Amino acid sequence: MAAGRSAVPTATERRHFAFDYTPVLDLIAFALSGLLLFVYRRGLGAPGRYRDPVCGMRVDEDGPSLTHGGETDYFCSKACRRAFRTSLDEYADAHATA
Ligand SMILES: [Zn+2]
Repeated sequence: MAAGRSAVPTATERRHFAFDYTPVLDLIAFALSGLLLFVYRRGLGAPGRYRDPVCGMRVDEDGPSLTHGGETDYFCSKACRRAFRTSLDEYADAHATA
């Protein structure tokens, strides 16, 4: 059985304990990345019919929209629509290659 003597950690035991924090932080980071992946996948599978080309959010047609070159894009917010309009050429190129 553990005697009272071993309850007081030595310097090496303390350092070993401190080192043991790294895997714990790794585990937390791993769990966080897993959660992010889960949220990301859920976002892609969400019931929105359209995809906001700026932030990638799923949106429905009742949100702000912008028609250009015969195509209509839908956005989650007016801020995304404004960002899209200011860099329309850049996104149009991405559309053409996709
Ligand atoms: Zn957006």
